[in-house]
Amino acid sequence: MRVSFHGAARRVTGSCYLVEAGRNKFLVDCGMFQGKDDMTQENSRPLGFDPKDLTAVLLTHAHLDHCGRLPLLLKQGFKGPIIATPATRDLTAIVLMDAAHILAEHAEHLEWRSGHAVPPLYSLVDVFDTMRSFQIPAQYGEVISLARDVDAVFHDAGHILGSSSIQITERSGQSRTRILFSGDLGSSGRSFLKSPDPPADSDVVVMETTYGNRNHRSYVESTGELREHITETFRRGGNVLIPTFALERTQEILFLFKKWDSEGFFPQGSRIYLDSPMAIRSTDVFERYAEAFDTEIRELLKNRVDPFHFDRLTLSRSSDDSRRINENKGRSIILAGSGMLSGGRMMYHLEREIDNANSSLVFVGYQSEGTLGRELVDGARTVKIFGQEREVHLRMSMINGFSAHADQRDLLDWCRKMSVPNLAILVHGEERSMEGFRKVLPKVGWSRVTLPEMNESITLSPTYVE
Ligand SMILES: [Zn+2]
Ligand SMILES: [Zn+2]
Repeated sequence: MRVSFHGAARRVTGSCYLVEAGRNKFLVDCGMFQGKDDMTQENSRPLGFDPKDLTAVLLTHAHLDHCGRLPLLLKQGFKGPIIATPATRDLTAIVLMDAAHILAEHAEHLEWRSGHAVPPLYSLVDVFDTMRSFQIPAQYGEVISLARDVDAVFHDAGHILGSSSIQITERSGQSRTRILFSGDLGSSGRSFLKSPDPPADSDVVVMETTYGNRNHRSYVESTGELREHITETFRRGGNVLIPTFALERTQEILFLFKKWDSEGFFPQGSRIYLDSPMAIRSTDVFERYAEAFDTEIRELLKNRVDPFHFDRLTLSRSSDDSRRINENKGRSIILAGSGMLSGGRMMYHLEREIDNANSSLVFVGYQSEGTLGRELVDGARTVKIFGQEREVHLRMSMINGFSAHADQRDLLDWCRKMSVPNLAILVHGEERSMEGFRKVLPKVGWSRVTLPEMNESITLSPTYVE
């Protein structure tokens, strides 16, 4: 078996791993690169393999950095099935349709700037083709035959709804090679999704390390911090902007707000807006998969109690709805995308509020290098919004205990659930995060570790089994 790294190698985004087993080639994830460079340019670089040669694609979860380049495979002749959990399939449809819209806008913008036509990376038609390829639904724990002597099993990764770690096994006579792709891993100890549940052993583990060198503050502390920010901002008469990721964080925060609302936490007259059509659509998907949740939400959904909606919450679907939020004169909480301020409706709210020292911007998720979100978190005093240099007056804070990503402690706990593999391959992390994690891995007895370069291939030696 041979594995090659065509994305998320020494960086976080663009997950894309090629597995060659005998004559068959499989791809695990085909995500978008997100960062400083021009989106279309960076993502239209050669994939590093021919999609026509792929037998199947296995998808860990619906985040754009894992599914965002799937339509390019179809455009370049991939004919096989895409294998994913049903929840991942449903969420991927939402994420890719949104991506196609953003890419179309981006292409228009480039055309306007350069004066000549620039085709978008892919279109809605390509997204529909992609969605038709989701032919094999995966259930956690079920063995899926990929080819003669090769099979795959999906395991709950606890990161977002439907998220999976995927183990691929190749057998040949008396020997066997088992490789596990962690996918993105969730943190444990939350009353939302179930905790990650990896298989007992693998020969090789390819592991994400987004927060490999850091620990989050606890979830309880983080919810306390969020309450404080809201109370203080409302006391000043300001608004709270929360850039959210449409999948997962939004629903988790709505669930929390609904609880706080019933406890009388929010002052009279205050409003909460969910200004994201994509988040509204994905909330609907969440409600279809009760079994994925931890006990509390599962029970609510089973009893047909809606865990995400309440009177104080306004859903704003159309852009007119979105503009109407501006008429509000304070004491509002606005949840909108994008989570890293790389576009989306939050940009308009930010443009309006950036001068307002009474308002706050509260980040609840990872901010990738090169994004406006990261600039602000790193303390920039002036930033560019819609091409204009603007001074930053609104108050900024980062609460990382809501992260959908495991921190160093969670990652080590995940490792402890398995026997020690022959080799650990670290991916999906910035350099210092991976180096930080490499240093602590001996704590769990993992000693053979490598950090592959982009496009590097590693040949795995099979294990003899009796
Ligand atoms: Zn993810
Ligand atoms: Zn990711």
